[in-house]
Amino acid sequence: MSKRDYYEVLGVEKGADVKDIKKAYKRLAMKYHPDRTKGDKDLEVKFKEIQEAHEVLTDEQKRAAYDRYGHDGVDPSRGAGGFGGNADFGDIFGDVFGDIFGGGGRRGQSRAQRGSDLRYNLELSLEDAVRGKSVDIKVPTWVTCDSCDGSGAKKGTSAKTCPTCHGAGQVTMRQGFFAVQQTCPTCHGRGKIIPDPCSKCHGEGRVEKTKTLSVKIPAGVDTGDRIRLSGEGEAGMHGAPAGDLYVQVHVKEHPIFVRDGNNLYCDVPISFATAALGGEIAVPTLDGRVKLKIPAETQTEKMFRLRGKGVQSVRGGGVGDLVCKVVIETPVNLSEQQKELLRQLDATMAGDSEAKHRPKSKGFFDGVKKFFDDLTS
Ligand SMILES: [Zn+2]
Ligand SMILES: [Zn+2]
Repeated sequence: MSKRDYYEVLGVEKGADVKDIKKAYKRLAMKYHPDRTKGDKDLEVKFKEIQEAHEVLTDEQKRAAYDRYGHDGVDPSRGAGGFGGNADFGDIFGDVFGDIFGGGGRRGQSRAQRGSDLRYNLELSLEDAVRGKSVDIKVPTWVTCDSCDGSGAKKGTSAKTCPTCHGAGQVTMRQGFFAVQQTCPTCHGRGKIIPDPCSKCHGEGRVEKTKTLSVKIPAGVDTGDRIRLSGEGEAGMHGAPAGDLYVQVHVKEHPIFVRDGNNLYCDVPISFATAALGGEIAVPTLDGRVKLKIPAETQTEKMFRLRGKGVQSVRGGGVGDLVCKVVIETPVNLSEQQKELLRQLDATMAGDSEAKHRPKSKGFFDGVKKFFDDLTS
């Protein structure tokens, strides 16, 4: 028995949109539902025919195949859920199956598999991170085959619709009551096969290559920042779009500066005499040395803030500061003469003079004395 045209079965125009097809189906399905046509074998066949037409015409892939190749283009045994079997089953579960498989599975989700994203770990010196830099990086990756332009087919030939799944990329395996969609074993979900593969990429449409890329690192990046190079990841298979390349920034430790956000920190040793008398010292910045005035009577670990000598954030906003912590360096390797001078100096600051010259020490030792006196009284 030759099959009726699906459009004719549903009574719709060839170019009808899915909404109208569904509407027509609903109307007919109600009319010819086996519950209403109890026992009438002819009408049951008609109902199945309606279901089948609906099944094919509401599936983009199958409809396209049907439009092109007619009934030969679609294999009814690939139908979802119920048709051909228990009509009620199809009715009740048809939409549920439609939801589960229709979302992508049935349309062959693995067909246009985008290439993988890549991550490149880039180590930068603090100076380069702060100032920005163009770096050339070598990335082992997959690139689109230039011999076949990614199609995977030999020059002058082209891919063909898969004869097993007719381009759907999926086939339906029946397991008892259920129909399970599986990736087509012939084309592995692509919906197409390449009868004459490109000899350079063996049909994959991409080849392995170490790519050299020039990456512009913006000024102010910090460890943890990443720079996305859209489309510079691995080329997809069979001409699918490429993934992205992420350059992950890691800033190396600096011998002098510690960075915290936009601020830089450094310890600067100063002599005891400079701390006491005051003076000018040279401190390092990323742009070279600058002079820093040390006031007289500066205590150790005092912080000096040099505004604007920090880092300009990559995300905009102000420039950070350089914070210098001065640390008084205790002199070492003293000669006898130097020692004697220090003893003499120290003696002038002891006894009654202590409160004047060393108020902290005086206060501290007075406190300690009181502590012990209290203990023993
Ligand atoms: Zn296939
Ligand atoms: Zn190729």
